[in-house]
Amino acid sequence: MRTKTSLIILTVLSLASSLRAEVMADAEPSLRKDRQAGNQKSPGDHVVVADTMKPLPPGKVQLRGWLGDSLRLSIANRLKKVDYAHLVEPFRLRNERDGRWRCEFWGKIVRSSIQSWSGQPDDELLVMIRKTVADLISTQTPDGCISSYPVELQTKDWDIWGRKYVLLGLARYYLEIEQSEAVKKAMTRELDYLMTQVGPGTNNIVNCGHQSGLAASSILEPVVLTYRITGEKRFLDYALWIAAQGGSSANNIYTSILQGIPPCKLGNGKAYEMMSCFEGLAELYRETGNPDQKKSVLAFYRAVRDQEIFMTGVGGLKDSWGEFWDNGKIKQAQLHVGSLGETCVTTTWIKFCGQVLRLTGDSTVADEMERALYNGVLGAMVPDGSWWMHRNPTPLAGPSNKDRAGDQIKGYGEDCCLAQGPRALAVAPWMAVMKDARGPVINLYESTEAAVELADGTPVKLAIEGKYPASGEVSVVVTPAKPGKFPLKLRIPAWSRKTTVAVNGQDFAGVAGTYLCIERNWNPGDVIKIQLDLRIQIHEAADGGGRVALTYGPVVLAQDSRLGNVDAPICTDKLDACVIEPNPPKGVCMLFRLADGTALCDYASAGNEFSKRNQLCVWMTRSVGK
Ligand SMILES: [Zn+2]
Repeated sequence: MRTKTSLIILTVLSLASSLRAEVMADAEPSLRKDRQAGNQKSPGDHVVVADTMKPLPPGKVQLRGWLGDSLRLSIANRLKKVDYAHLVEPFRLRNERDGRWRCEFWGKIVRSSIQSWSGQPDDELLVMIRKTVADLISTQTPDGCISSYPVELQTKDWDIWGRKYVLLGLARYYLEIEQSEAVKKAMTRELDYLMTQVGPGTNNIVNCGHQSGLAASSILEPVVLTYRITGEKRFLDYALWIAAQGGSSANNIYTSILQGIPPCKLGNGKAYEMMSCFEGLAELYRETGNPDQKKSVLAFYRAVRDQEIFMTGVGGLKDSWGEFWDNGKIKQAQLHVGSLGETCVTTTWIKFCGQVLRLTGDSTVADEMERALYNGVLGAMVPDGSWWMHRNPTPLAGPSNKDRAGDQIKGYGEDCCLAQGPRALAVAPWMAVMKDARGPVINLYESTEAAVELADGTPVKLAIEGKYPASGEVSVVVTPAKPGKFPLKLRIPAWSRKTTVAVNGQDFAGVAGTYLCIERNWNPGDVIKIQLDLRIQIHEAADGGGRVALTYGPVVLAQDSRLGNVDAPICTDKLDACVIEPNPPKGVCMLFRLADGTALCDYASAGNEFSKRNQLCVWMTRSVGK
């Protein structure tokens, strides 16, 4: 029987179009109060362009396999161990006088925590998030400013970049957890304050901060989100002004990409600041519907994918931290190209891919995200989830080893990639099962439980079972609350050359690199049987140097010094005879044995002792004549 109070709550919830609010109302009683008091207009009611594909609300996708286990460890051993008060301190003191970036850590880490909580709701983590959001807002001064820089140094160095992360942390809190008036007000005041310092007639944003303006200009994304949350037109105008400045003082990155200028020649080539600018443009496109903005986003996506991303789903090289675009697709198999693959680049790449997937519903974008998740992302995490590496093993050709991220600003105890790694991992539940306008979309195949609501409100449960990615045999049990006709989409990965799909014995043909759409009358308990083609594939290095890499489905294989000689030539004959061995040694997730006896493991496990003695190699040489 419903009480009067619960009826009021239900009425309020039914007014809110966001299912997220319902989830939260179940999970957290105090938020129900906030929902009743707050405004009931959902953020984004004015959005012009609807996404082709959308993530499900928090808690609706539970991963049970490798990625899910890793996310659990990341939450338990890193995100719940963070000293959040330490991250707020620079804003309270406002004394960041040495031009550093202590200002980025609060937003980066809180965003990691919020997105991880969305994938695996955890009450303790939620309490920490709520507390630190309130703590941060308490540092806001009457002028609206939340900054770690003293007023005379504001807008210089990393100040606007830091304020970008403040706004992103607050925006994610508002959009994922609680439509809090206090958060909305704090965002409004923070942005109004910035607009007194940078804007038409004052400072040009491309002349602020580092990386030829890319860092400051990437505030575009939270400016658009602040507009989406508040509906205040001055913020949309400000976003349009920022975009019109072109992202960089070197060239207009948004128009140059349409003229075929490669990513390494946009701005100063700094990889993740640049991607962050294009993330902002994708958000702006949703508000304007301007087709040129979409064209620019998609052109940039294709260029980065084709010119820069490594076999492992990672990018960035040139300097000692692996932070710049520099023809990475070709140079990844070479020895002297600087360091490779900053984890911040991996994180921003996978997030940017998420933007493109939402806009286009193109399954090959999900392929790229899967590749990054099973290799660059899992491979960057220390196995117990407590720490991350800054750059990927360098070089990827020849022996190298993994290192833990250090203390980036001496004495502060944080590192940009340590802050961002968990955010990349949290993309896994976000993308694993999504929905389009008509039905569920399955993107990842590890064991998962998901609950999708169809357009008519019918709940559908999906249970994905199997040992993916070790095995290509997957089953999906589909349980709608009532029998009914709807389409269900399955990603057929581009690497799966021959995929078989059957529903209750009826066969469907899956084409690699597309979604297979199965539209039928679904009854509770219908079973989809999928067989993905995980056969080992060989990839020649694009520089013509003769090195090769091997993949097993989405998983990149590597030599590891615990299993044999590293950078020793391998025989690539009879790859079909390569077997997965059932009992890998401790620390190794998947163990492969080539026909010549060479043992290889998955890239994520390779070198995961994070020590100099534990060497690995991805781009391998072939024994003579092969
Ligand atoms: Zn980083």
